Amino acid sequence: MSSDSASAVKNIIIIGGGIIGCTTALYLASHPRFAGASATVTLIEASKQGIAQGASGKAGGLVAKWAYPKELVNVSFQEHVRLANEYNGTDRWGWRFVNCGSWEGRGEPFAQSGTGVGAGGKRKSLEKTLGLDPDATSKSRKSTGLPDDLNWVKPELTESYSPMAAAGATAQVHPYLFTKSMMELAQEKGVNYISGKVTSINVDQSGGPHVTGVTYTPNESGADEPQTLPATHVILAAGAWSPKIVSSLPIVGTRAHSITIVPQSGTTIAPYVLFTEIALPSGVAPKGPRHVSPEIYARPTNEVYCCGPGDDSPVPETVDDVVVDQEACESIREHVMSISAELRAGTVDRRQACFLPVVSVGGGPIVGPADTIAKGLIIATGHTCWGICNAPGTAKAVAELVMDGKIKCANLDKLRPSRFL
Ligand SMILES: Cc1cc2nc3c(=O)[nH]c(=O)nc-3n(C[C@H](O)[C@H](O)[C@H](O)COP(=O)(O)OP(=O)(O)OC[C@H]3O[C@@H](n4cnc5c(N)ncnc54)[C@H](O)[C@@H]3O)c2cc1C
Repeated sequence: MSSDSASAVKNIIIIGGGIIGCTTALYLASHPRFAGASATVTLIEASKQGIAQGASGKAGGLVAKWAYPKELVNVSFQEHVRLANEYNGTDRWGWRFVNCGSWEGRGEPFAQSGTGVGAGGKRKSLEKTLGLDPDATSKSRKSTGLPDDLNWVKPELTESYSPMAAAGATAQVHPYLFTKSMMELAQEKGVNYISGKVTSINVDQSGGPHVTGVTYTPNESGADEPQTLPATHVILAAGAWSPKIVSSLPIVGTRAHSITIVPQSGTTIAPYVLFTEIALPSGVAPKGPRHVSPEIYARPTNEVYCCGPGDDSPVPETVDDVVVDQEACESIREHVMSISAELRAGTVDRRQACFLPVVSVGGGPIVGPADTIAKGLIIATGHTCWGICNAPGTAKAVAELVMDGKIKCANLDKLRPSRFL
């Protein structure tokens, strides 16, 4: 994959302040060719609340060697380790290695308020365990017990527990803090930030289509007039909103709800991420399904993150218009509290929803030059359920493409936009 000449002056615009856009901004600004003012980088984010208001601020935060696609994971995992070492990720964004397993068992009734099932149509799996061998997993589950230090699920409710991968193969970050740190570090290195919504990527057809810049509506009050910003390169990292800007992209959004729980003070929650299969008793969520599979993530920042299935609610105009279905959040609360006295005693802090960017034809993400649309246009989207994990690999590849003229860190031919467009 190659872009244009590595040596020319570059004015680079990144559309989208999620984890992909912000991490790419840092990698561009850290590139040796960025120094010496031969390049400018500007990130434009549509939300009036700032960066990471979409999936990147509301995800679980798992970073796994067993994630997919392999060619991107292999770069991303080691880059996560490097970033954490270089910028003190432990304190700054809650980086740590974590235990991760699949837990199967039953819930128990408990005294509670609220009702059961969330609305929002058909339930969709977020597909994190795609690619793991289900036979091997279920066989070993049956013979593996609950680890001694997993202190926040009830042993008597547990039917089986099985580790997802070997020790050292799974880590985690707090995705909002990670994304915010990427942007802060990028700004310290000279990246510009604009709060506004990009309405079009501008293309000049003369001499073959090439990008000339973007048009955006600024978010400052009273500044309703569209503005134009020139660019030699435009990186589209707008997550589930990407096809609203490049309509031929086969990206759809899947809405998913999540909650965070703050445990009672003095409670220590052991560092585990659980992919659960819970058989609910009749007293819990009476209107909903009897078998549910919330993901539960203990975090070092004294909170526990829990997410439910996806639904097919349509992607709204901007990230600020995402509607949170309180019943869907209530369902997640009931499901996770049915297996844990420690979670039951905690307080629900956040109830939120976001859109996962999914490649509708399968096989994403989509990363690379979109020269068939316009030279200088680069796509970095469709990261499905592994965008937190795969952000550093994507950022490194895109930075190499723009600054060196080609991707050197991995062979990402399988992800090139021309395969999907
Ligand atoms: C419930 C849930 C749990 C998850 N857990 C994990 C996990 O444990 N590990 C993992 O690796 N991944 C996880 N993911 C996936 C991960 O969250 C996503 O893949 C990732 O956040 C996508 O990042 P993004 O930057 O592409 O998109 P987003 O975070 O959606 O960012 C896109 C940004 O672009 C902006 N934008 C859109 N349109 C415009 C425009 N016209 N102009 C300017 N800006 C615009 C948006 O406002 C938004 O801020 C999870 C996702 C969900 C939903």
